[in-house]
Amino acid sequence: MTRKSTEAIISPPLHHFVGDGFRVHNFIPGIVPMHRMSPFLMLDYNSKYYFPPSVNPRGVDDHPHKGFETVTIAYKGRISHHDSTGNSDVIEEGGVQWMTAGSGILHKEYHEKEYSAKGGDFQMVQLWVNLPSRFKETSPKYQGFASSEIPFYELENNQGIIEIISGEYEGLQGAATTFSPTHLLNAKIVSGGKASFSFPSSYSTALLIIEGNALINNEEFARTDHFVLFKNDGTDFEIEAKEDAIVLILSGEPILEPIVAHGPFVMNTSAQIEQAILDYKNGKFGSIT
Ligand code: MN
Repeated sequence: MTRKSTEAIISPPLHHFVGDGFRVHNFIPGIVPMHRMSPFLMLDYNSKYYFPPSVNPRGVDDHPHKGFETVTIAYKGRISHHDSTGNSDVIEEGGVQWMTAGSGILHKEYHEKEYSAKGGDFQMVQLWVNLPSRFKETSPKYQGFASSEIPFYELENNQGIIEIISGEYEGLQGAATTFSPTHLLNAKIVSGGKASFSFPSSYSTALLIIEGNALINNEEFARTDHFVLFKNDGTDFEIEAKEDAIVLILSGEPILEPIVAHGPFVMNTSAQIEQAILDYKNGKFGSIT
């Protein structure tokens, strides 16, 4: 057991809009390259933002994905989802959607109608998790979890909880199944509380401070909305909350394969990208009814 040290504490870059409903700071690949964070290809973070009421829900209309998975975590507000395999769902506050685009899917992502009509704070994360080449043509799959369906570990002495979205923590298995080892945890730690984590040193590991702050390894301090990238020099780290905190923890085994990314498609070769574009144009990703 060796200590994992921090490589960088990154402040949120200037936001941009995805459609008209997602006001995001792009940490991966805008600041941290895809290869550096493999299997995490993309991380868009909508820091807490008040959207005024709107009769027409804001969001992103029909668009395709292929070759990876999208993971959406709703911290504030609610998100509606419809896709070409017939799934129609709402990600409630505290909920997670794990969508495997695999061989190809169309979907649309919107503010949920009632939330949109009332307006309110919106805060979410969307991650893209790569698929190993042998699973890029897997059938699209949908896993949706309400907050109450996500297993959690209770820290001693009421210091908080660790929600296990995927992977494991202290022997507890996460809610979502994954195609390669991917740990996604929400640490909800009360002021003064501490939690320890251990992942193989080869894994790509980072934190996103959703709420409050975190003192890492008793030496580095990260504030709300900051992204903490760890070096691959050790296995263990500790987080201490100096005020009530929510920290998203990402750690995954790198997929050591070529990445060819083109917009919403992420494959291994340019020929596969050309084929994906052709398949999409020819309607092979289906339609949203
Ligand atoms: Mn999408």
